[in-house]
Amino acid sequence: MASIPILEGRQAQIHQKGTQPFEMDCGKHSLAGSVSQRACVFCGSRVVLYPIADALHLIHGPIGCAAYTWDIRGALSSGPELHRMSFSTDLRERDVIFGGEKKLAAALDELIDHYQPKAAFVYSTCIVGIIGDDVAAVCKKLQQQKGIPVLPVHSEGFKGTKKDGYQAACDALFKLVGTGTTADIEPLSINILGEFNIGGEAWLIKQYYEEMGVQVVSIMTGDGRVDQIRRSHGAALNVVQCSGALTFLAEMMKDKYGIPYIRASYFGIDDMAKALYDVAEHFKAHKALMDRTRNLVRREVESIMPELGRIRNDLAGKRAAIYVGGAFKAFSLIKALRYLGMRVVLVGSQTGNASDYATLQTMCADGTVILDDANPLELSKYIVEQQADLFIGGVKERPIAFKMGIGFCDHNHERKIPLAGFAGMLQFAREVHASVTSPVWQFVPAQAALAGRREEAP
Ligand code: SF4
Repeated sequence: MASIPILEGRQAQIHQKGTQPFEMDCGKHSLAGSVSQRACVFCGSRVVLYPIADALHLIHGPIGCAAYTWDIRGALSSGPELHRMSFSTDLRERDVIFGGEKKLAAALDELIDHYQPKAAFVYSTCIVGIIGDDVAAVCKKLQQQKGIPVLPVHSEGFKGTKKDGYQAACDALFKLVGTGTTADIEPLSINILGEFNIGGEAWLIKQYYEEMGVQVVSIMTGDGRVDQIRRSHGAALNVVQCSGALTFLAEMMKDKYGIPYIRASYFGIDDMAKALYDVAEHFKAHKALMDRTRNLVRREVESIMPELGRIRNDLAGKRAAIYVGGAFKAFSLIKALRYLGMRVVLVGSQTGNASDYATLQTMCADGTVILDDANPLELSKYIVEQQADLFIGGVKERPIAFKMGIGFCDHNHERKIPLAGFAGMLQFAREVHASVTSPVWQFVPAQAALAGRREEAP
């Protein structure tokens, strides 16, 4: 396994810190034949908009695109669950030849009447881009007929990377922003952008901000509601977590409504505390806010430290591999793993940019492999070579970890367990501990290769 060669066209996207000049060739289309871990543009849009629970999500395309993204996030709702349905126009050969606009209009007509959503998102898939259906015109007509926003999402799968899908989703969201009332919005108010309420995380984060005395006007898009998004232009600050996905929207809101934004991460003790302190600092004219924030952070950290200490005793010295969608999450994970005494030996992302990788390089120790837009073979190779004990990734990385016989922690959008916030840090530590210390890995054949390497290591 370790002798797997790297494709020539991929070599500029893989670096081992300390062994060569670091210049990541990122932000480009995947190399043909390298079987990238990335998803398509449509999937990028779908994951951003999916958690809006009172909207209709209609996928205009063949049934496979809908099946591929059905219930794609573990995003919870405190009310309606319309987002969990997967509607598709189910385009077939006849529609591809004669066009799918009539079918789309009929589907919207029926679904809006039946489900009475607050808005409808219509996702364009590859074939719709090829046959040239005028999705925007159909949406406009149905919007006039039904009296709700019907928003085209220009997410044809082939037209770029997953990141282009994020932008298409933000373009659709931006059409909702500014269409609702800003009554009852207080000066100390924020929108939480890029938090998708996986396993209920948005509720926890919202609770922290509210305890500080900050009003949360909208969360985009976790436990999302159309009416909240429509009035989100009344908030005083945007706090952007998933920077790759929602920064587009934050920029547009800054330009049009003058709302500043800050970046945040809710994973790990350091970054969670910083996300709260940064908001308190932004509203520093309100002196009591910082005191309340300090008290909250102190209480939460004290409540998890004893158990974290016990877990750290077992995990100290273990080696971790990280492969995530956006690089920003990797920053938090590296810090969180340090708390557990673990060392990161492999880290990469699907959509990181040059600045993300420059930051990763400064955070990692010499010898760490840093890669962009990886594939399963590369990840397997470096798991062996770097002697990882744990792999943190998502649904596509899980089988790689299990085949290699090492621990795995799902930190992507399919999971159902909250890992954000202070309580989430403890949950993360428990997950990592349970998986890394499980006796089951000794029975996986690939472990023999890893065990051999460990014995040879100086
Ligand atoms: S949009 Fe295109 S690439 Fe994406 S799932 Fe559908 S057919 Fe596949």
